[in-house]
Amino acid sequence: MTSRESASFTLPTRRGFLASGAALAGASVAAGASSASATSASGHGAGGGEWPPGPGKANTAQRADAELRAILREIDPHRIRHTVETLVGFGTRHTLSTQTDPHRGIGAARDWIKAQLDEYAAASGGRMTVDVQSYVQPPASRIPVPTQISNVRATLRGSDEPNRIYLVSGHYDSRVTDVLNGTSDAPGADDDASGVAVSMELARVMATRRPRTTLVFVAVAGEEQGLYGSNFMAQSYAAAGADIQGMLNNDIVGSSTADDGTRDRRSVRLFARGVANPPTDDDLARIAVGGENDSAARELARFVTEVSTRDVTGMDVRVIYRLDRFLRGGDNLSFLQAGFPAAIRFTEPNENFDHQHQDVRVENGVQFGDLPQFCDFDYIAGVARVNGAAMWSLSAAPGTPRNVKVNTTSLTNDTTLTWTLDPAAASYEVVWRPTTEPLWTHRINVGKVGTATVDLSKDNVIFGVRAIGPQGHRSPAAFPLPG
Ligand SMILES: [Zn+2]
Repeated sequence: MTSRESASFTLPTRRGFLASGAALAGASVAAGASSASATSASGHGAGGGEWPPGPGKANTAQRADAELRAILREIDPHRIRHTVETLVGFGTRHTLSTQTDPHRGIGAARDWIKAQLDEYAAASGGRMTVDVQSYVQPPASRIPVPTQISNVRATLRGSDEPNRIYLVSGHYDSRVTDVLNGTSDAPGADDDASGVAVSMELARVMATRRPRTTLVFVAVAGEEQGLYGSNFMAQSYAAAGADIQGMLNNDIVGSSTADDGTRDRRSVRLFARGVANPPTDDDLARIAVGGENDSAARELARFVTEVSTRDVTGMDVRVIYRLDRFLRGGDNLSFLQAGFPAAIRFTEPNENFDHQHQDVRVENGVQFGDLPQFCDFDYIAGVARVNGAAMWSLSAAPGTPRNVKVNTTSLTNDTTLTWTLDPAAASYEVVWRPTTEPLWTHRINVGKVGTATVDLSKDNVIFGVRAIGPQGHRSPAAFPLPG
């Protein structure tokens, strides 16, 4: 065993600290920060104060580095508007619409997206490649005849860890009231030219950069017919053994105005599933130890809240512990089902259903249809900044720790965690929160070690482990399973 593998970290004990008094408070980071300093905790327990007490500093947001700030400044609402309006200009992008007309239909949209991404890739010094991933879908639900479905994809190869992948998506197909109508105008401005515009704008601004890991920017088709394009893509990645550690689906991120006219230009909803129905084996393992709220999707959601704060993006990320809205679904589900558990969905805060999946028409003076006039391009730029901050921060940090285990071989009132050391990690943090808290409240830097013992009972809190890069970038946390 190398010294690195055997390295371990043991915190000064809480009981020891309490016994020896406040003189110790400044002697140790771990013992010096009582839980009362954890200001990010919203307070747990009615009237009883924060409980349990435990080691560590208050968990705080991650500051954006200079390169991320530069990237976010380049995100341009005018470009986003151009993308949305150009896509709307193809009349319909229904999956069953024409694929040979150069001006109308999903084929023309596919070719335009490809040409745009090719243009962005030309500025990448060969690091970004663009492809169209196509297959013929045999007749199936909402697909009456064999239909070619094409995903357009720009892959920006990572400089240090090219096999670690983060992916951002929108769907470029559209629909009207009749889901099989491939000929009527289906502008699909909000659903989902807005999401495609987020993906494409990030491809543009990141093409000139050198991310440490591979970043993929996609526009998929067949979503409205039943997630066909994303399913094909996710299954293809799974068959190739791809290491996709995060998938960000943007679907209906175009409008800041609710159906009652109120506006919320700051909020974006982030949907993150806890367990599948029926549960996966991984879900069952977590459920057995109270980890149903700590799926990889929820750890990714917590990560996004820490790197995409308002001072960085101008936006407030509103996490919802749910796969999706009622009666709805999206392309993140394809990745979840293919075995990529860190897949999440962004959606605007208040949807107006007069503007989704509707024939374009006026009824009693009310305009129906998914038209660009209902989009807020500055808002979409804000959503793009949230995604950009997440993608870049994921890439800058080490990967999510692997093989994170909690020792449950005997009855103890402390907690020993172990994990596999990653050469890219400069150190590790143990994070924890009371079981009733939604987000991590405390963090403890334990150094570059593969095991740590914390003087806090695993019975009373949720633990996680995250890797820290040389410049302080944090990975998403991993939930420890018994082992
Ligand atoms: Zn959609």
